[in-house]
Amino acid sequence: MEAKPYFCPNCRANRIKFNLITSTSLQMLKDAYNGQVVEQADPMMIAESEPMIQCRVCNYSGNEMRFIRQAEREPRIENTIKSTN
Ligand SMILES: [Zn+2]
Repeated sequence: MEAKPYFCPNCRANRIKFNLITSTSLQMLKDAYNGQVVEQADPMMIAESEPMIQCRVCNYSGNEMRFIRQAEREPRIENTIKSTN
């Protein structure tokens, strides 16, 4: 995950609230006769080159790059107080 600002390309109203969608791998042993899980390990996160991000305002999800690109296209303008005198 990159330390860059996000901006939702769908609703264009959210720069703050996101979910990081990940895949996990969970090692388990099953009983071959009744199908019960007899042993399971802690889930391990599968590292992905480009994570999936979900907007928590409109629920749109897409590659992280789409959110970064949108933020680059429409960067947050910081309020600067300019004197008109
Ligand atoms: Zn959104």
